[in-house]
Amino acid sequence: MSLSPVILVTGASRGLGRGISEELARTGHSVAIHYASNRAAADETLAACRAVATSPLQQFVLVQGDVSKADDRRAIFDGTIAAFGRIDGLINNAGIAPRVRADLLDVTEESYREVNGINLDGPFFLSQLAAKWWLAHPGESRLPGGYKLIFISSLSAYAISVNRGEYCVSKAGLAMTTQLFAARLAEHGIQVLELRPGIMATDMTAGVKDKYDKMLADGLVPQKRWGTGADVGMAVRAIFQGLFPFTTGDVINIDGGFHLRRL
Ligand code: NAP
Repeated sequence: MSLSPVILVTGASRGLGRGISEELARTGHSVAIHYASNRAAADETLAACRAVATSPLQQFVLVQGDVSKADDRRAIFDGTIAAFGRIDGLINNAGIAPRVRADLLDVTEESYREVNGINLDGPFFLSQLAAKWWLAHPGESRLPGGYKLIFISSLSAYAISVNRGEYCVSKAGLAMTTQLFAARLAEHGIQVLELRPGIMATDMTAGVKDKYDKMLADGLVPQKRWGTGADVGMAVRAIFQGLFPFTTGDVINIDGGFHLRRL
């Protein structure tokens, strides 16, 4: 059983989830590295975490499952508890873009359900499992300031893309989900936050790299660069080290200033 704080990171095999996991490993946490189907990528995250871990008390395990399926969510959660005997934090990071960027009027029910099942329903119901475990284990958190629940949303929670509306709906839903869980769990000492990444360099954006390179050069993002998994990981580190003790239900933009309205 692990003696360090245990964090379950969904979608940790690649992209932002890997960056988050590495930063957690670097700062003394044990990590349940979740993936859906890409075992080879998850093994790379596992090796990366082991390489930067600072204490022999830290442990890293892989947990697999589709967060849109109830049985899989139960297996992901139970697998974490079975491996570590506990959970101190959950980072709902797993997510997908629509397979096809279709005009709003052509979005299929299949795509709408797939995207929302993974991006919104999955985090909502996985968080229920974690919250119930935390309520059943009060005062046992190994994290400064108590148990922590994080939702990785997107600038798409408020920025409109009419060619991937189902994704925007899922992320706007996550913004409300964050506030709901924050209000419900605050009195139990459980902190809930939404991290809202901007334009990030991962597999998800590989297909639009050239287009976004140009938009970045033209000043779409004030800081004029792509975001990285490390950018998100460092924000997570600050939260998990207890550096936002009087904040819950809030949004932390990690977007190089994209959200700023400019004239
Ligand atoms: P990514 O590189 O495409 O990685 C997606 C991750 O989600 C992988 O670990 C994948 O597992 C997992 N996943 C896919 N389908 C799943 C399912 N059905 N159940 C469980 N896990 C599943 O994505 P990313 O860019 O790092 O995105 C991470 C999060 O940040 C997402 O929620 C995304 O919406 C959000 N975000 C991304 C950007 C961006 O510009 N990239 C911007 C804002 C927000 P496998 O490896 O096993 O397939």
